Amino acid sequence: ARKFFVGGNFKMNGSRASIKKIVEDLNDADLPSDVGMEVVIAPPALYIHCAKELLKNPEIKVSAQNAFPKPSGAYTGEIAAPQIKDAGADWVILGHSERRTINKESDDFVAEKTAHALENGLGVILCIGELLEERDTGMTLVVCNRQLDAVIDKVKDWSNIVIAYEPVWAIGTGLAATPEDAQSTHSEIRHYLAEKLGEDQASKIRILYGGSVNGKNAKSFNACPDIDGYLVGGASLKPEFIEIIKSRE
Ligand code: 13P
Repeated sequence: ARKFFVGGNFKMNGSRASIKKIVEDLNDADLPSDVGMEVVIAPPALYIHCAKELLKNPEIKVSAQNAFPKPSGAYTGEIAAPQIKDAGADWVILGHSERRTINKESDDFVAEKTAHALENGLGVILCIGELLEERDTGMTLVVCNRQLDAVIDKVKDWSNIVIAYEPVWAIGTGLAATPEDAQSTHSEIRHYLAEKLGEDQASKIRILYGGSVNGKNAKSFNACPDIDGYLVGGASLKPEFIEIIKSRE
């Protein structure tokens, strides 16, 4: 069975004070402690180290939101995978739609970053997903498969990758995909991975749903066999994040 996984992507939000409060709430929460799940928080890079220092539950891991595909060097403003590890994070989010669109990151660049992060010992939360106009023209799987193909070309061992399917039209809109729609896309993604990587690897890869997940709707995905957890944006900054973490209890 695939371990339930909940990620909190804080995006460019928070301060030392507010992130301290979130971490303290997580410390105080009575989380499922039987290692039956993984919880990962992704604060802005500046706060990775302080979040790591404040966390008391060793089961809760920290993630970066991006990493540059070089170990060090003259890359002003960028952050390297070894630095992310050094600051105390074990994961990195790559290919988020905000970076693909606002920062114009190509599929190939995301794939290069994924390969590099894995080589440097980080787990990768790889985000894929279609825009509204792509969904409306029936292109959802074409887009997801194309985004996956770039990584499949460069990475053969997917054991340290978690996929986050985040339809762009559902991000920050309050309009989550329905459990039926999300399950159907997750299942098609898994079939595609099985074709490309083999049944065995595909059956082990966690596929998270992301896009307007909140404390109220999280449980509605519980019956979806191919939804292995969530990547949460806005709600990860609020107390309801703990409800989402507990939604499969
Ligand atoms: P929201 O949960 O705010 O819709 O954001 C989802 C997301 O982009 C997580 O990476």
